[in-house]
Amino acid sequence: MANKKKDVRALTKDQLRNFFESQGDKAFRGNQVYEWLWSKGAHDFDDMTNVSKETRQMLEDNFVINHIKVDTMQRSNDGTVKNAVQLHDGLVVESVLIPAKNRTTACVSSQVGCSLDCLFCATSRLKRMRNLNPDEIYDQVVAIDNQSRLYQDRPLSNIVFMGMGEPLMNYNNVIKAIDKITDVEGLGMSPRRITVSTSGVPKIIKKMADDEVKFKLAVSLHSAIDEVRTSIMPFNETFPLADLRAALEYWYSKTKSRITYEYVIWKGINDKRKDVDALVQFCKFAPSKVNLIEYNPIDDGQFQQAPDDAINMYVKVLEANNITVTIRRSRGKDIDAACGQLANKS
Ligand code: SAH
Repeated sequence: MANKKKDVRALTKDQLRNFFESQGDKAFRGNQVYEWLWSKGAHDFDDMTNVSKETRQMLEDNFVINHIKVDTMQRSNDGTVKNAVQLHDGLVVESVLIPAKNRTTACVSSQVGCSLDCLFCATSRLKRMRNLNPDEIYDQVVAIDNQSRLYQDRPLSNIVFMGMGEPLMNYNNVIKAIDKITDVEGLGMSPRRITVSTSGVPKIIKKMADDEVKFKLAVSLHSAIDEVRTSIMPFNETFPLADLRAALEYWYSKTKSRITYEYVIWKGINDKRKDVDALVQFCKFAPSKVNLIEYNPIDDGQFQQAPDDAINMYVKVLEANNITVTIRRSRGKDIDAACGQLANKS
């Protein structure tokens, strides 16, 4: 029966205030409970010490708090922490704390499994089971913020939506979670420290531009040639590069915000001069950064990281075209916490 009760965190502050009024109580009680739920991270109605016992019981009778449970925690020898996050219905997603010299980044999941079918990504093999609710996304961030304070002696500084799932296929909930993360009544983080990474859903990229979102956009491109991209990211057939490019042009015209492209160079797939030339053509319309990501092998050996000379060629050609390039080394590989390795193995 307990699961039939509504998750109290699905209510807005106003709805919570109205609920208390409908119970013959004062509306401000809603504010108090809201604060407990969001800024104070209460897991239980009994945590709400300035709320009377009767009111807590009344809440208990009507609602549940579907808080996530951080189940197992693995710590890598480079300081990366991988969390297996158990949801109220028993499903599990993963989230990762990535420490660097001056920052701590949380890599969070947006779906259980994934809607997409990228051949090189372990998560795609799980298929999409369901979208995460806003509070389930928010809770992952709070859990990592706490771990950052514990292990790094500082709060979380950055968030990337690069865990399991395609955030733009769960756009409404991702936006609600980000609203809460940036709200002063939530975590009060700056949206400029949040990056949403997408394989590219053109319609939603345009919607993000119209919504005037303030977070950053990263696009997992991996190839700027349709034929190649479709062979490794089959959904590219449905959302071809021309549509993606048009959406990105729209995004840039509205936001004037630089676009980051994530890109792995694989041996025999996208390691030739024509591949980097296509990449330059694709992204030079706006200020861009290409993040060359190291490939994290997933078991079947179909994909192999290209050798250094291919990487050097990419860097040279991109820089010659005034495109910023960074090379991102993987973190947490020993515990399968790196990009594309999240597949609930542990
Ligand atoms: N669905 C979103 C976010 C999750 S994936 C997206 O596609 O952007 C986060 C990043 O990891 C993406 O850039 C993805 O292409 C990359 N990635 C996936 N599998 C990988 C692997 N095995 N090695 C390195 N990067 C990988």
